[in-house]
Amino acid sequence: MPIITRSAVSVERDDWRQILAQAFRSAGDLLDYLGLAADRLPQVLTEFRDFPLLVPQPYASLMEPGNPADPLLLQVLPLRDELLPVPGFSSDPLEEAGANPDRGIIHKYHGRVLLLAASGCAVNCRYCFRRHFPYADNRVSRAQWQQALDYIRNDTSITEVILSGGDPLLLQDDALQELVSLCDAIPQLKRLRIHTRLPVVIPQRVTPQLAQILKHSRLTTSMVLHINHARELSPALHSSLSTLREAGVTLLNQSVLLKNVNNDFRVLSELSESLFEFGILPYYLHLLDRVSGAHHFEISEAEAVKLHRELLAGLPGYLVPRLVREIAGLPNKAPINLDRQ
Ligand SMILES: *Cc1c(COP(=O)(O)O)cnc(C)c1O
Ligand code: SF4
Repeated sequence: MPIITRSAVSVERDDWRQILAQAFRSAGDLLDYLGLAADRLPQVLTEFRDFPLLVPQPYASLMEPGNPADPLLLQVLPLRDELLPVPGFSSDPLEEAGANPDRGIIHKYHGRVLLLAASGCAVNCRYCFRRHFPYADNRVSRAQWQQALDYIRNDTSITEVILSGGDPLLLQDDALQELVSLCDAIPQLKRLRIHTRLPVVIPQRVTPQLAQILKHSRLTTSMVLHINHARELSPALHSSLSTLREAGVTLLNQSVLLKNVNNDFRVLSELSESLFEFGILPYYLHLLDRVSGAHHFEISEAEAVKLHRELLAGLPGYLVPRLVREIAGLPNKAPINLDRQ
């Protein structure tokens, strides 16, 4: 009996990793699954080694079968357009290479530091500003955490650690537990934040152990999810997030404004309302970072401002995310100034 119980537990624990291992890795397989004939999508890039298609099945299951314009599909489907060089779009639009003082650390915001806890993600989003980031040079092994944590310990102005990546929840729970304990032991730290999209694409990633780790940290914990469309809010995600809320984790969301995905008042207001039903506050609405390969998602600043005004007029203030963009070298996200328009 005990043996059966133990193996049952470990299967459950490894569930999310199995789901990740079985993720779609070819456009052909994903389109087959969605019942889409390849000739309806002549723009699809079938081979793209630098930043290949990667879509876990739970996320694919939220897409509408047979719809080539599905807003979830558009976020992950590699298109030929990505290969066009477009002026103004570059491989490191935020010039993070210059804010990378130590392996695995990005220190560009005052008082808070990004710790690149894992390289890679569970989904490859085509608009991602880190699609060309040198993760290979920033892979932080467990032994190297100490060095990154020493950097944090030595700068007493840092009061918040942001676990970032890639996606920090790619770390297994035991590793995450160790990292959180190491952060707990740095006296000046007050807050721990996790930026992740993993629960959106694999809700099973929110294990009971993850909730316990965050619950027992002495730091005030928050999680910033990256959700761009209300259809990404599945019942499975709802139950995962309830566990985190019960563990005292504050949930926030940041979205990117993406052409043909969410550049529409009704889509954005439905997103805000659904987020709130899930216990998540809309935090940031980002203009696209001008990374090469993502130009087909860009909308103009004027359109973004118009959408934001509509949101302000149509929703209670707490459901309106801040409209921002990243400007290389600035120590904060830059609010888009509505008065200037
Ligand atoms: C903006 C951003 C941060 C810092 O956010 P603040 O809330 O402004 O401190 C951290 N990580 C990622 C991925 C971000 O986009
Ligand atoms: S999950 Fe986030 S970091 Fe990873 S590819 Fe998507 S947008 Fe980029």
